Amino acid sequence: MDPADEDIIYDWLQKNPELMVSHVLLTHKHGDHAGGAPGLVERLEEDYKAAGKPTTIEIVIGAGENQSFGTKKVKGVGTFEVNEIKVKHISVPCHTGGHQIYYLEDLNNKEKKNDPSEPKTVYRCVFTGDTLFIGGAGKFFEGTAEQMQKNFDEIRKLPEDTFVFCGHDYALANFQWASAIFPENEALMSRYRWAEEMNKKGICTIPSTVKDEIETNIFMMTGDPALQKKFGVEDEASLMKELREWKDQKKTFESKNE
Ligand SMILES: [Zn+2]
Repeated sequence: MDPADEDIIYDWLQKNPELMVSHVLLTHKHGDHAGGAPGLVERLEEDYKAAGKPTTIEIVIGAGENQSFGTKKVKGVGTFEVNEIKVKHISVPCHTGGHQIYYLEDLNNKEKKNDPSEPKTVYRCVFTGDTLFIGGAGKFFEGTAEQMQKNFDEIRKLPEDTFVFCGHDYALANFQWASAIFPENEALMSRYRWAEEMNKKGICTIPSTVKDEIETNIFMMTGDPALQKKFGVEDEASLMKELREWKDQKKTFESKNE
């Protein structure tokens, strides 16, 4: 998934020789996600060839990302299987035009639920790239607020115990800003205190769960009448647009009044 740095992944694979790579999944074309993919695949294919193993590694990327190194281009919604794992790709255009998120499910343990206190045991998860961050959303470089609203609705539909692995750990900054926008929301405020605690301890906030995001990510609250009223809007996409613009400008209601 998004091998931005080929050396880290390659070195880890050297230490775990029982594992072979058959697919590299790319959420989108940006270098800090996809940059290491061609080099990694080239090195692995050479190693596998020398060892007499199957050598073809698929690089999955969204159609329209204009990256020549993708060998399997996907769009819309579709599934494929890798060993006993079902991979569902969902097109979520906005951050980039061909951005994909990937929902993975362990086919042998479909009825089991993830335990948030055991994030290393994963029965289902979603890789959201730069579309949804813990407590935040990616920038709308190649799309609209309407599109991002639909993308968040897709994530909302996933099982609530799904672990969320996003592309960057921006949780503290996201909750810090959101808490100044919507301090009346107790769940959000307690998540902000949690992010501060994690930051003090130097612990990564990833993964969260779909349930966490629905309850505490302000970009998931576009249907909240109190929040819509604060911004003077009456529909979800308009609130999505306002939130993105305010976040880009680091604007809050306090700073607006200064
Ligand atoms: Zn990006």
